[in-house]
Amino acid sequence: MTDRYAVFGNPLGHSKSPLIHTTFAAEFGEDMDYGKIEAPLDGFAAALEAFRDAGGKGCNVTAPFKLEAFALATERTEAAELAGATNTLRFEGGAILADNTDGAGLVRDIVENLGHRLKGKRVLLLGAGGAARGAALPILRQRPAAFDLLNRTVAKAEAVRDLIRDHGEIGIADPAAVNAYDIVINATSASLVGACPALPRGVFADCGLAYDLAYGVGLSPFLAVARAAGVPFLADGVGMLVEQAAAAFQWWRGKRPQTRALIEALTIPLS
Ligand code: NDP
Repeated sequence: MTDRYAVFGNPLGHSKSPLIHTTFAAEFGEDMDYGKIEAPLDGFAAALEAFRDAGGKGCNVTAPFKLEAFALATERTEAAELAGATNTLRFEGGAILADNTDGAGLVRDIVENLGHRLKGKRVLLLGAGGAARGAALPILRQRPAAFDLLNRTVAKAEAVRDLIRDHGEIGIADPAAVNAYDIVINATSASLVGACPALPRGVFADCGLAYDLAYGVGLSPFLAVARAAGVPFLADGVGMLVEQAAAAFQWWRGKRPQTRALIEALTIPLS
């Protein structure tokens, strides 16, 4: 019998997840079907239950249901626990297992695909929402020389720091100070509304990589500022998108799919 998976979100019109997972399944000849379920904003739990009752094996979860999915889970991986949000669920008997593969996907894209080491580098992570929370520990585990957070609402950045401070040194950047970094990662959603988050002065002075988690928006205002400051390497979040999906696929099916050709196919030039 064909195993059923799906992505839940609202809206979902833009979702690339069915294409990505269908490509992964074809690579291994896995008998699985991957659909899109645009649940009503107040109807996620009911839609998820109906999917499980119909034999669904697992799902991806995107905005705005990542926190609700986390709350509905009966078991959570450390990554999900620290992110306080889940993007991947697996159903086993009566259990709903939750993981968060966003951070692992981001780090894999930066280190493996783009070839930029985080180890020993000064890294700034902008934002403190679900994506930033998921990314913070995987970045810290790469052992950067310095790791700072900066968010519009400072208390949220402090909360992320407090969640993972047992795992290593982590600072809160002062946007009014002069601070240079080797790698600057934009995990705010500012790009989705055509804005650039506040940046410390001189932030790009020594920067080798500016990475925006947003994808499909071309050269975002954040990347445009980085380019104007002379940053030699710019990337958007399309690689992360494919890598977080690959990590989810592996968690469900026990097989690690190829990602490079898919990333190339989905990449929109940053012009
Ligand atoms: P959330 O809504 O959870 O968090 C949004 C964050 O952005 C908050 O820190 C918020 O600050 C900040 N923010 C929003 N608008 C502005 C602004 N105008 N100026 C400065 N800061 C702002 O979103 P997510 O964490 O889920 O998503 C963040 C981004 O990451 C999005 O662009 C999303 O598309 C992308 N993403 C990409 C993925 C990929 O696979 N490539 C996966 C997941 C997300 P405050 O706390 O002050 O409100």
